[in-house]
Amino acid sequence: MARIVQKFGGTSVGDIDRIRNAAVKVKREVDAGHEVAVGVSAMAGQTNQLAAWSRQISPLVDAREYDVVVASGEQVTAGLMAMALQDLGVNARSWLAWQMPIKTARIDDINTEAIVSRFAEGQVAVVPGFQGLGPDNRLTTLGRGGSDTSAVALAAALNADRCDIYTDVDGVYTTDPRIVPKARKLEQVSFEEMLEMASQGAKVLQTRSVALAMRYGVRLQVLSTFADTPGTLVVDEEEIVEQQLVSGIAYSPDEAKITLVKVPDQPGVAALIFGSLADAAVNVDMIVQNVSKDGAATDMTFTVSRSEFDRSVDVLTGLKAQLGYTELRSDAKVAKVSVVGLGMRSQPGVAKTMFKTLAERGINIEVISTSEIKVSVLIDDEYTELAVRALHAAFGLDRDDED
Ligand code: ADP
Ligand code: ASP
Ligand code: MG
Repeated sequence: MARIVQKFGGTSVGDIDRIRNAAVKVKREVDAGHEVAVGVSAMAGQTNQLAAWSRQISPLVDAREYDVVVASGEQVTAGLMAMALQDLGVNARSWLAWQMPIKTARIDDINTEAIVSRFAEGQVAVVPGFQGLGPDNRLTTLGRGGSDTSAVALAAALNADRCDIYTDVDGVYTTDPRIVPKARKLEQVSFEEMLEMASQGAKVLQTRSVALAMRYGVRLQVLSTFADTPGTLVVDEEEIVEQQLVSGIAYSPDEAKITLVKVPDQPGVAALIFGSLADAAVNVDMIVQNVSKDGAATDMTFTVSRSEFDRSVDVLTGLKAQLGYTELRSDAKVAKVSVVGLGMRSQPGVAKTMFKTLAERGINIEVISTSEIKVSVLIDDEYTELAVRALHAAFGLDRDDED
């Protein structure tokens, strides 16, 4: 007997037939004698719809009420999934955020006593993903794609043998298979690489879910709800059988670039700029500070996600007098493309191949950033797909046609 968490994403529970299909997958595990907790997303498109309604009421939404609205999508699916399971003769019930408190600030501290005692009765626990409780006991959410994190947190708390993430693709690919048909499915991927790929835009797993799985040693698997093919196992680096120089290409299409021209080159300036942005809950990503020519002033360039662009510009405009920059230049039509691979630690040349490949396509690189196992570039968003395809081929990741 094993203890398993199964998570079904939005497309996998997109309509009533699909919920029934997912329930069959749960029943299969129950029939095999396993203890099962099921995490569910909102039905496909629901979260977007709920978010749009909130913004229609007020563009300056109250974040707490916004969470109350958007979290409801998962409640609907949890109830429907429990009913679908009951309809198949499986003993099941739903547990909402307030019934089995999942504190979003301390996600790794879930009291699972109640659902574990029901496992003994053969009952399946159905848990709405995405939602949790804030410090004041009000409803909160885990950000877009957050149901992955709910599922992994639950798996960690339950000490589950497996956490299976069922989605609309049959695993983690070398890049998004929707834009590169030649993408290859990875049989296994290391936590480190998956973490980089997720944080650089591969939305198949939410970044926080990968970090949690890595910390707690959760055996994480990504697989298809619609096909019975083997998925991708996320494993420790030591378990990787064949280490590649580059394992994947990720892209993030919704970036924005801001340059502050001629900010004073003196202590405290960067702290003021980035401190003020952080206070406004803006996440800054790439940062480049030019070497000042005369020692007096320098240009500061950085990127933020496009949804936080307007807020960033407001904050920086408010600081103009204090900072004394001459001009704020911006470009909200840029994308970030990243090449990820553990092999980069020991083998040089990845950046060279990347830059050469982009140059051959006439794609200009606007900003570069690197980590131990990643090189990212910022480019005009019009060239995102071209860049991803070209890099995918250049690093030998394209699937052979006979594969
Ligand atoms: P779910 O609703 O099941 O959570 P998501 O839409 O959040 O599904 O994530 C799955 C999607 O992630 C896929 O449909 C695919 O387009 C996208 N994706 C991006 N990068 C990758 C990748 N490297 N491998 C697999 N899927 C990827
Ligand atoms: N429903 C939420 C979203 O669409 C959470 C999730 O599906 O993971 O982002
Ligand atoms: Mg998702």
